[in-house]
Amino acid sequence: MQNLTIDAQRLWDSLMETAQIGGTAKGGICRLTLTDLDREVRDWFRAQVEALGCQVTVDEVGNMFAYRPGRRSDVVPIAIGSHLDTQPTGGKFDGVLGVLAGLEALRTLHDLGYETNAPLLLVNWTNEEGSRFAPAMLGSGVYAGVFDRAYADSREDRQGVRFADALEAIGYRGDAPAGSVPFGAMFELHIEQGPILEAEEKMIGIVTGVQGMRWYEIELTGSESHASTPMNLRRNALLGAARIVERVDAIAKRHAPAAVGTVGLMEVSPNSRNVVPGHVFLAVDLRHPDDSVLERMEREFHEAVPAIAGEIGLELVTRKVWDSPAVRFDPECIASVRAGVARAGFSTRDIVSGAGHDAAYIARVVPTTMIFVPCAGGLSHNEAESTTFDECAAGAQVLLNAVLEYDRRFAAP
Ligand SMILES: [Zn+2]
Repeated sequence: MQNLTIDAQRLWDSLMETAQIGGTAKGGICRLTLTDLDREVRDWFRAQVEALGCQVTVDEVGNMFAYRPGRRSDVVPIAIGSHLDTQPTGGKFDGVLGVLAGLEALRTLHDLGYETNAPLLLVNWTNEEGSRFAPAMLGSGVYAGVFDRAYADSREDRQGVRFADALEAIGYRGDAPAGSVPFGAMFELHIEQGPILEAEEKMIGIVTGVQGMRWYEIELTGSESHASTPMNLRRNALLGAARIVERVDAIAKRHAPAAVGTVGLMEVSPNSRNVVPGHVFLAVDLRHPDDSVLERMEREFHEAVPAIAGEIGLELVTRKVWDSPAVRFDPECIASVRAGVARAGFSTRDIVSGAGHDAAYIARVVPTTMIFVPCAGGLSHNEAESTTFDECAAGAQVLLNAVLEYDRRFAAP
């Protein structure tokens, strides 16, 4: 197989050019899904891939698929995908890098007249961020059959605008039924959105899966009383909450290093310095890459919380509000990334994603994996999000290498 080298400057220029579409004063991007700015970047994307001779299909939830023929038309394409929408105070790289690195891969192949065995498909998934229309990863979720079209259409933003109306308003309601555009594997390049690669000075993260995540909400009710109430007569809801915080931390540490547990939100009522708190609402987040361990963590959590409430005489309500199973990416896709990294000669480590991505849903229906590059300080969903020129280039090179490696299996006999 030939060594093909991407054009790092051209990739960077495209990143900076599209960053102007919704660019913010602080150097980030505000390009919410299905807005006029989203239409502008979609039009730009379409023009770029059409200039390479690709044919663009848009499906009924606005996912865009750019098809580049291969030597064989009897096999389904290998896809590269991520998203061009951003958070309201998003950075320049989250999602955008994955799509534009795919574009750079197609441009490199185009320049050299290189024909892959399988066709290639570059995908821009609709509404990955979920900040305008919840939930996140909506376009890839519909593709993978996690949600149906009617559900997507019915989502409303804070102004009461429906997803369906916003999609039609920007002219990106396509004809293709969701899930009807076939591909046989997908590779997604993304910034890590965590601090590990930078801390260990590794250029490439070989992503083996996505952590399972479970969210709970707890309400503790005791009794509000004056701060002069004797200690033995109190039913202090905040004392219960404090013990739960300790216990969540202990459960996660017991399953270290892969487990994490967080209480990141607490509302204390009445929140007055001379009142024993009568009511506390708190949110708990448990994560682990292995669902069976996460199950154990959940059991320990459900044993601990009622015991704590009982000790203090508190009423307890516990709700599980989200359960996102762990994802294991495809071994053959991962092997292609490994070979691609080795050929490029970058430092690397295996990593599990702590955040959700389009690839997590797509992995339910076709072999899928991801490639991570570092981002400064692990900072993301932030205008200061920063990945360097060299890191972007490294990611794009590994992405192209991995796709070409995977493509070798389709060489004609
Ligand atoms: Zn993203």
